[in-house]
Amino acid sequence: MKKINLIIYGATGSIGGSVLSIVRSNREKFNVQGITCNKNYKKLIKIAEEFNIKKLGINKKIKNSLKKINNYNIFEDMSTFSKMYDNKTDVIIFAISGLAGLDLFQNLCKSGKKIGIANKECIISLGENLSKLAKENSTTIVPLDSEHNSAFHLLNNEHGSFKSITITASGGPFRKLPIKSFNTISVKQALKHPIWKMGKKISIDSATMVNKALEIIEAKYLFNLNDDQIDAIIHPQAIIHAMINYENGISIALLNKPDMRIPISSLFFKFNGYSNKAKPLNLLKYSKLEFYSINNARYPAIKLGREVMKIGGLAPNAFNYLNEILVNYFLKGAIKFTDIIALNEINLEKIFSKNVNIMSPKLNDIKNINSWIDNNLYLRN
Ligand code: NDP
Ligand code: MG
Repeated sequence: MKKINLIIYGATGSIGGSVLSIVRSNREKFNVQGITCNKNYKKLIKIAEEFNIKKLGINKKIKNSLKKINNYNIFEDMSTFSKMYDNKTDVIIFAISGLAGLDLFQNLCKSGKKIGIANKECIISLGENLSKLAKENSTTIVPLDSEHNSAFHLLNNEHGSFKSITITASGGPFRKLPIKSFNTISVKQALKHPIWKMGKKISIDSATMVNKALEIIEAKYLFNLNDDQIDAIIHPQAIIHAMINYENGISIALLNKPDMRIPISSLFFKFNGYSNKAKPLNLLKYSKLEFYSINNARYPAIKLGREVMKIGGLAPNAFNYLNEILVNYFLKGAIKFTDIIALNEINLEKIFSKNVNIMSPKLNDIKNINSWIDNNLYLRN
């Protein structure tokens, strides 16, 4: 049987780990050609040794720390990472966090390969250009984000057109915390997600609910939706991740436990072709499945996210880019939890009072606005 040739960008992260867990339990089916990290080279080498991987992508600043470098074909710096795939590559996983990989992702969209993308930030910043670019180059984009992966499969079931998509949010760690305590939320508290174990950036995004705001915009671009065709609700048990709603009153959903290996496995296997060693979903174990509307006072990110989605052009990217900067400031202890959204809103107003919004931005327009943001960021102290 032909093996699936795989490249994993961001192999040392949480999503990378879920991909490797699938490979580990199906070794005979995969050949991992290449993996990348940023600075965590020790983990990268360990993975390379375990799976006999020859191509390693690293940050060039850490090249000198690599001792066993002779055994490997090293790709220094993200600017060379797109040379890691070849004509044998079947699937590319894009699981680098944040916007650092935006250029790389744009290049990969021209590969003509099947890309499993977990990174929502790059989808949002490329915006409408993503589908265009992928189509022109016969690249298949498969979303791995659990909500979008569910919707992707439900829509492939060919029910023709649909009315809308509803995605769900667990509500994060502060669903019940009194709003007056939000001012004093610590980094440690915000990193502790009740359901998912994820990287730091997305964990903070889940606590502020920016993650869901980004996912609403992500869905718009992935599935070509009008603004009123996508909404989000809270579902703390995280068993239903997305629903497709039809005019006749029918909604269809997939049910699965919150385990990222499930959406990722659908890249490689038919639903029945992948056996998840974890215990199967047993609805009898849940005394209830709950659903709540999102409270704007508790989660102002959703309202702001919807506004930038409506404005369009460079606005979703600006919201996304500002968020990444502000989350880093929060992680360093430089701003409060509540400042992440407050400062995003203030800076958005400043950006669009001084810059013209470009409605179909190219990558250069995105980079220009991002460097304007770098130079003009407003941080209350
Ligand atoms: P992690 O922080 O766990 O991992 C990020 C990966 O990207 C690591 O391999 C890291 O390398 C690498 N990386 C980070 N910055 C750079 C850089 N500048 N250059 C090269 N490589 C870099 O993140 P997650 O796995 O949690 O998330 C990855 C993406 O998937 C995010 O966009 C997130 O929104 C999305 N996602 C994640 C989910 C999850 O369950 N974790 C669910 C849905 C979406 P190193 O280890 O060396 O730092
Ligand atoms: Mg998600």
